[in-house]
Amino acid sequence: MIFALAPANSSSASTLFSDVGTTHRAQAEIYYLLDGGITGGISATKFGTDQLVTREQAAALIGRSLGLNGEKRATDFPDVSTNNFASGYIQQMVDKGIISGFKDGSFGPKQTLTRGQMAVLISRAYNYGATSTAAATNALMEKGISLGMEDGSFGEDLTIKRADFAVFLARGINASFRKDANVTFSREMFVNVNDLNFRQGPSTDFPSMGKLNNGDKVEYAYTIGQWSYVRANGQTGFLHNAYLQLTKPDTTTPPPTPTPVPTEKPLDELVVIIDPGHGGTDPGGTGNGFVEKNVVLNVARHMNSYFQATPLKPKMTRTGDYFITLDYRTEFAAREKGDVFVSLHTNALNGSANGQETFYYAKTASTNPNVAQSRALAIYLQARMQEAWDLSNRGVNPFGYGNLHVLRENTMPAALIEMGFIDSPKDIEYIKLESQRKLMGKALYLGVLDYYYHYKGREDVLPLYNITGDSPSKRLH
Ligand SMILES: [Zn+2]
Repeated sequence: MIFALAPANSSSASTLFSDVGTTHRAQAEIYYLLDGGITGGISATKFGTDQLVTREQAAALIGRSLGLNGEKRATDFPDVSTNNFASGYIQQMVDKGIISGFKDGSFGPKQTLTRGQMAVLISRAYNYGATSTAAATNALMEKGISLGMEDGSFGEDLTIKRADFAVFLARGINASFRKDANVTFSREMFVNVNDLNFRQGPSTDFPSMGKLNNGDKVEYAYTIGQWSYVRANGQTGFLHNAYLQLTKPDTTTPPPTPTPVPTEKPLDELVVIIDPGHGGTDPGGTGNGFVEKNVVLNVARHMNSYFQATPLKPKMTRTGDYFITLDYRTEFAAREKGDVFVSLHTNALNGSANGQETFYYAKTASTNPNVAQSRALAIYLQARMQEAWDLSNRGVNPFGYGNLHVLRENTMPAALIEMGFIDSPKDIEYIKLESQRKLMGKALYLGVLDYYYHYKGREDVLPLYNITGDSPSKRLH
């Protein structure tokens, strides 16, 4: 139980942000960056389209697009503390010569970014070779990344709204967003592994569009971070540089094995954090003679057992009936290098409500950027819970109220499930039974597999469904 007043909601809502919707001019670009974990919203329901972009936000957004390590650290600047959400990106961008501070030694993290500064940042980050603001603004206009102002100028001293910055950034990353896709595929290259994911953007957080194989020819245009923008089979997208070469590989002998993959962990390095809510002096919700902390520990142990039969590594935040803090849970997850985080709860509302619900956290402007991933994880968990127990569907909801520490403070895709109401006469018929708890543990296991299979495009999880005689869900996200 976190609390029980969440509105019932469709689990397949097509939009997250009320200020973006389906018609906003920057809608495609904002959701593209969201899918790739490059941006989040300013609240559970708002992207903040009209807010001005600050220098720290710009550093984080561009740094994520380059795949830089955003781990917080000490910086060269007295006005950027280690605790600043963007400290890792700011220092890395400084070290790479992409961004710099002011003459007085400060960085000005809260200062708004000008269009001229943005042009310089994008030009340096994506290697356009411009050495002045004028050259950078020209490069952006020539490439169709900026169309300039109505008077033909670039407006280099003007500030930028978040929606417009999203458009510039998406166009810089992926030329298919440019008005005149002014990009040349100048070089022939070859894929040197099998089963290589062809992704929509330059990280494994972006969805896969399909697979390419050893010896496949692609046409190369440019590089973003460690990824190449290429055309293959009539589609444009991104491949990791490690799997591209200039000469055609020998296809008569087996290709080198695609593991270890630098950007996509092998299955036996994927860590699933299983977080049974409450414990010890914190019983959680109670009802019908049952106590939440015991129920969720039991289900978590079943979920853990299913993962133990696979190469994936399950890690439980608590393994017995003792109290742990919310901080401990997220710190444990970070220390164990979790790849997904699932928190298990039962709900309660004086016996007056029933059903299943899954939460994720969409307000991640300065902390967890994994909004789209968390949402997809939540969708697949909720669908499997519905399949397991015949209870009403309260939907998948961005957690926009209250304090949901374990979702907000996490640095990995995270979801919190409420498997049913412990004080409901209907739901307790499932909650009370050991056999049903085992089914729920399996449902949560399968939901995580569905997330990896459908969202991350990982076909290497397919054999794991066979262990329990199951198969992947429909694609739902
Ligand atoms: Zn709870």
